[in-house]
Amino acid sequence: MSGPNETEYITPLRCKACQYTHYVTVDARRWNWYQRGANLAEVWPDPVYNSAYREKIIGLRSGYHVCDMCWDEVTKFDDEGDA
Ligand SMILES: [Zn+2]
Repeated sequence: MSGPNETEYITPLRCKACQYTHYVTVDARRWNWYQRGANLAEVWPDPVYNSAYREKIIGLRSGYHVCDMCWDEVTKFDDEGDA
């Protein structure tokens, strides 16, 4: 997917819940675009990038991240009433 002009950074992202460090690959050009004020969903559109990926991007920017596994722990309580 990445061409010769694209630079990708592999950035550590620590989960606030389990303290495990995950790594997220971020395209430098997209990141700069985002930092200049572009909309998150515009920079990383569906279906190329899913919402889980965008959650990581939000985590990178805000410094607060909860990983997928911990999200499952948090959300499974909701599922009980639903299923
Ligand atoms: Zn976690």
